[in-house]
Amino acid sequence: MYNPKSLKAEEFINHQEILDTLEKASRTYPSDHYRAILEKARRYEGLSYQEAADLIHMKDPDLWQEVFELASQIKHHFYGRRIVMFAPLYLSNYCINGCVYCPYHKKNTHIPRKKLTMEQVRRETLALMDMGHKRLALEMGEDPINNPIEYLLDCIKEIYSIKHDNGEIRRVNVNVAATTVEDYRRLHEAGIGTYILFQETYHKDNYEALHPTGPKHNYAWHTEAMDRAMQGGIDDVGLGVLFGLNNYDYELVGLLMHAEHLEAVHGVGPHTISVPRICPADDIDPASFKDALSDELFEKIVALLRISVPYTGLIVSTRESQASREKALKVGVSQISGASKTSVGGYTEEELPDESSAQFDLSDQRSLDEIVHWLLELDHIPSFCTACYREGRTGDRFMHLVKTGQIGNICQPNALMTLKEYLEDYASPETKALGEKLIEKELERITHPKVKQTATEYIANIHSGQRDFRF
Ligand code: SAM
Ligand code: SF4
Repeated sequence: MYNPKSLKAEEFINHQEILDTLEKASRTYPSDHYRAILEKARRYEGLSYQEAADLIHMKDPDLWQEVFELASQIKHHFYGRRIVMFAPLYLSNYCINGCVYCPYHKKNTHIPRKKLTMEQVRRETLALMDMGHKRLALEMGEDPINNPIEYLLDCIKEIYSIKHDNGEIRRVNVNVAATTVEDYRRLHEAGIGTYILFQETYHKDNYEALHPTGPKHNYAWHTEAMDRAMQGGIDDVGLGVLFGLNNYDYELVGLLMHAEHLEAVHGVGPHTISVPRICPADDIDPASFKDALSDELFEKIVALLRISVPYTGLIVSTRESQASREKALKVGVSQISGASKTSVGGYTEEELPDESSAQFDLSDQRSLDEIVHWLLELDHIPSFCTACYREGRTGDRFMHLVKTGQIGNICQPNALMTLKEYLEDYASPETKALGEKLIEKELERITHPKVKQTATEYIANIHSGQRDFRF
């Protein structure tokens, strides 16, 4: 039976409840039904999984236009025009799992297997710092022999220890296989930001078929991972499904059920939700997955997530093309990666195409400077801020600030200050000119007199070497 407070995967992600929800959602309702749901979302109350499922089956194009506009409005209300930047860092592609969509699966014998030494971790980190990155997501396959938790902890320690010119990595997020409460505690103590784990699919039978071998085959172990992470002290967790593995509407309901469960049990929902779609890769052809998500549905899903969980960050990676990311940004995405490499050693080593260790092919291959320039042209504010996590504003403390709207007085100046740091240290002259104009305009808009004064003074002094002040 469905029970959001249960700690058992099959009770908080209940298959029958999802089927019942989708059956109700497939009925035809008068437009007043949908309007009432949109009214609720307009009050910034979020939506239940049933309400979101009803909307995903809505046909009326005018009402969809309202959803897109509302998603954009909600994004601006809670996050302003800020877009947080990050990059993935692949540590190792050794993996003992059999995930059928990922070229790192164990049976792939022709992909080169690589694992970074500490010296290579250092070099990759320096390369990322030299682009201007401050926030990383560490990625690796699951392999207790080659990639034990101690290896990951060493990498985190190494990365946080590196200071170079004005560069430093200020937040390390981690996207690795489900593990024990004890290991999560060690990751928490190592100072990670968000623990990210994609569910891949919430549909248990499909999940088991898509993960035929290895520890990841265990649906309950994987689905209950976020509860263990939170028991281990990690406040911020990031959900996601790999769209294309199963019906999109089932996944939408699953994601929202999972968010409801985390809120019900731990008092705080997911910090972020990612919306990856399957990409072509070494021995993977996305066309062989029958549930591939169209661009049109992708945009709808992003918009519905934005209005359903207004306080949760939404992440789109470089799996998506520039055009697709542009649409997603309009309807509520708040974090994007830039200049990513998905191969082990990809930031420092030239690989021949047939020797590539890449996990998948990227659609958006622009440099970080090009991405920052593009965001500025679209009137977004690229932010390299990592302050909340370092000031202890995580979990429910972060959510409280977002819910009460206070985040604007903190995030807006922090975004402007970190953008100015980026412009000063890493940007091309064109990007710098564009960014400085925006900063000037935005400083004017800060209403809190003390915040405005401090941010203005700090920004004026960045050229003389001041760095890393934060509210
Ligand atoms: N190995 C860990 C795991 O599987 O949870 C985390 C790292 S894995 C490199 C990160 C994510 O990449 C996976 O969760 C999966 O959703 C995604 N992924 C795998 N193959 C992909 C593909 N062909 N296209 C797009 N994303 C893919
Ligand atoms: Fe390994 Fe993760 Fe790829 Fe699965 S998705 S094969 S666990 S790296």
